[in-house]
Amino acid sequence: MATTTLSETEIATQKPQTTKYVYFFGDGRADGNGKMKDELGGKGAGLAEMTNAGLPVPPGFTIQTDACREYMRHGGVPQEVDRQTEEALSRLEHLQHQKLGKGDNPLLVSVRSGAKFSMPGMMDTILNLGLNDESMEALAKRSNNPRFAYDSYRRLIQMFGNVVLEIPKPAFDEVFDAKKKQKKAKLDTDLDAKALKEVIAEYKKVVKKHAKRDFPQDPHEQLVMARDAVFRSWNNDRAKHYRRINNISDDLGTAVNVQAMVFGNLGETSGTGVGFTRNPATGNKEFYGEFLMNAQGEDVVAGIRTPIHIRELEKIMPGVYRQLHEITTRLEKHYRDMQDFEFTIQEGKLYMLQTRNGKRTGRAAVRIAIQMVEEGLITKEEAIFRVEPNQLYDFLVPRLDEKEIKPENILTDKGLPASPGAAVGQIVFTANDAVEKAGHGAKKNPVILVRAETTPEDIHGMEVAAGILTSRGGMTSHAAVVTRGMGKCCVAGAGEVQVNEHTREMRVKGQVFKEGDWISLDGTTGRVIKGKLKTVEASPDDPELTKILSWAEPFRKIGVRANADIPRDAIQARAFGAEGIGLCRTEHMFFAEDRIPHMQAMIMARDEKERRAALKKLLPMQRSDFEGLFRVMDGLPVTIRTLDPPLHEFLPKREDLMVDIAILPYATAKQKKSMIGKYGRFGAKSAADLKKVLPKVLSRVEELHEFNPMLGLRGCRLGITYPEITEMQARAIFEAAVAVEKEGVKTHVEVMIPLVATLKEMQHQAAVVRRVADEVFEEKGKKVHYLVGTMIELPRAALVADEIAKEAEFFSFGTNDLTQTTFGFSRDDINKVLPTYLGGILKQDPFAVLDREGVGELVRIGIERGRKTRPKLEVGICGEHGGEPSSVEFCHQVGMDYVACSPFRVPTARLAAAQAGASEKLKVEGGRTK
Ligand code: ADP
Ligand code: MG
Ligand code: MG
Repeated sequence: MATTTLSETEIATQKPQTTKYVYFFGDGRADGNGKMKDELGGKGAGLAEMTNAGLPVPPGFTIQTDACREYMRHGGVPQEVDRQTEEALSRLEHLQHQKLGKGDNPLLVSVRSGAKFSMPGMMDTILNLGLNDESMEALAKRSNNPRFAYDSYRRLIQMFGNVVLEIPKPAFDEVFDAKKKQKKAKLDTDLDAKALKEVIAEYKKVVKKHAKRDFPQDPHEQLVMARDAVFRSWNNDRAKHYRRINNISDDLGTAVNVQAMVFGNLGETSGTGVGFTRNPATGNKEFYGEFLMNAQGEDVVAGIRTPIHIRELEKIMPGVYRQLHEITTRLEKHYRDMQDFEFTIQEGKLYMLQTRNGKRTGRAAVRIAIQMVEEGLITKEEAIFRVEPNQLYDFLVPRLDEKEIKPENILTDKGLPASPGAAVGQIVFTANDAVEKAGHGAKKNPVILVRAETTPEDIHGMEVAAGILTSRGGMTSHAAVVTRGMGKCCVAGAGEVQVNEHTREMRVKGQVFKEGDWISLDGTTGRVIKGKLKTVEASPDDPELTKILSWAEPFRKIGVRANADIPRDAIQARAFGAEGIGLCRTEHMFFAEDRIPHMQAMIMARDEKERRAALKKLLPMQRSDFEGLFRVMDGLPVTIRTLDPPLHEFLPKREDLMVDIAILPYATAKQKKSMIGKYGRFGAKSAADLKKVLPKVLSRVEELHEFNPMLGLRGCRLGITYPEITEMQARAIFEAAVAVEKEGVKTHVEVMIPLVATLKEMQHQAAVVRRVADEVFEEKGKKVHYLVGTMIELPRAALVADEIAKEAEFFSFGTNDLTQTTFGFSRDDINKVLPTYLGGILKQDPFAVLDREGVGELVRIGIERGRKTRPKLEVGICGEHGGEPSSVEFCHQVGMDYVACSPFRVPTARLAAAQAGASEKLKVEGGRTK
């Protein structure tokens, strides 16, 4: 599961004589059980388990996932599946004393998809299947409620039409809305039986027109068609997309559940609802959920009427409430995890329709895990697997104050949690308005940019906004990706919110919001809340976070370091538990205002003498940076990479220069002034200088121009071309180390040479570093311990690792560049091909999740060969992958000594590393539950 490319087959080809395709449940007994998620899917396994436990579950049967895989392979199911389905159906009819869609008491069923992992994005459930012109009348008579019967039938035609016959939803909505208008009805429920009968007639015409066939009257045909539609839905775009972002195999397939209907819409003693055994946002132990009286299935989630808090049920139907509470408490004990359940009450009788381990926020996951250990429900070892490492990010971003959130103010909780954190601000509808309203300095106003979706043209608005809300787009939409990069809160794809950018209005739940209205976003759960809520700041020393990590830590075998370039980041990293710096990028030290001029002078230098002069100015700055880092890290390893330069980033753009040269003769005084501002650093102190300086800069920029800077004068190539640069950096490092050691601070220096491909390169740079070290130690009369090693980021380096290890005392795998050079993908351009490639060629973005087969194999080879030469060779990773859980697991497996990642990912990496260590010990494969 944790691999980047598609595996050919995880499907067993050997089968017994007749496969059991259909599993029955009902009357207190089920063929399957809760462990059979592979076969029955999560929903089917839950229904079987609840039936076996004697809970009130409407009976039915599950067609297992194997049938779906057959369907995908052959475009149809084996006859055996049809035979077993019919058999199970007769059993169900027998048990219920009813016939599917026939007689004066017709059996109606729901057809529900259900894969191993819960997957929004798959087929919608079809309710009331079995209704046709005849059984509709029978139901009307029997229930003594024609309105209910006609409404059920029109819902079936609508759902069946949409999900099975693939007729667009609006085709039905138009008919329905027109009828409401005609009858002057406000709510759906205002339409009477007669009106609904007219709607049915119209709906049938819609079906005929779009599907070129009649709505199937034969209930058995309905069932087969619905079943096959569920199988097909496994491969719809939404489902594929969801699997990709959640790392779920495409080969699993879904099960189909066929279950006798129960009706929550039979009057005032009926109802339907959903709930959790604990609060999924906070983790507090409280009964949590909502319900609607006189409603069916989807009504609760569809937001047509506002649901009521589940505790209110206690007042309305105390007996049912107690039973529900008792059942769900038992379910939680049984599954030893927080449950998310669905129920329906039919005329005072409670039915359970679903239970599963509930999704929760990171904070809730941690709290629940801890409390369950304290309650004796799970062990500490199990507890550390109850939290997804990525969820720890929740602790590092601000969040809304839960105490202030009133359920009636929640405008939606179905937005996508696209970028975690909280944002509170006033609504604006365009990027320009955002810039205008956000203000700056002391007059800063928090604004929330609300859009249908964002595009690159909105960037300026996104930058100033406190948070972003979009009504369309998924977890990888523009808004989602950009805000995650900015570390800014975003709720995306909130479908219940309608945004009209022209009238500058946002509509949700029948309320209208205008520019300037306050809203609050929770990017961790996808909620949008009315009003100006308080936020709570991040707390890396949160006692619960600390506790769960303290349980996890003993299992961790691999170190965790952080990537940090400046003391401030290093302090942060240590607070999060980093055990060293895995990568200090020295070029980042030169972007500061007071340094750029010297860096530019160094780059502009015509010869070694000029270059040395510039380097001399940089030396004390570098030295003081390193001193700062050493002090913060006090004896922990600090891995410093010598300059790996995107030199062009320090110079003006070639095109800009050419334009400026062209307009210079006609430039106004104002334009000249601005040019002096731009080129002052290159010696243009007055307008008269511009004529001389600009061409000079341009010619140097042209000299340095590379067609492919990523493969140009990078890494050690720079230090080999201009050894004086490496010399200066080595001097700064060792002078700093000696200086702080004299103060009593300990140091552990690792000098890292980047982008090495050959032993000779390594020897060249190591010789410079060691010579300078000796000089400094001699001058200062003090030695410090240090290592010289390399970053492995080229395939060649991995292949000749045994050679390179003769000189290198440590390796750090730079997997960003290694991925780039292995795949031949440009990191900065991959987004052009990625959408296409993720459609089936690649399983994941290899820059996000380490590609184990290719890049990972090079890592494995590099480690093996390196350690052949130098058995104690220290090995780590310093790419973005160092903080990604599945990649961390891989690093653990191949025997690295440490991973390094950005400070904010350190807690995630620590937990991921502990899980990797523990799963080995517990012999649990992968360990994680989805
Ligand atoms: P999802 O996975 O989208 O929740 P479900 O299959 O659980 O889909 O069903 C959608 C809605 O229909 C839920 O509210 C569920 O409780 C309800 N439902 C499903 N089957 C039945 C049934 N047999 N009787 C009454 N309601 C049902
Ligand atoms: Mg459900
Ligand atoms: Mg690199």
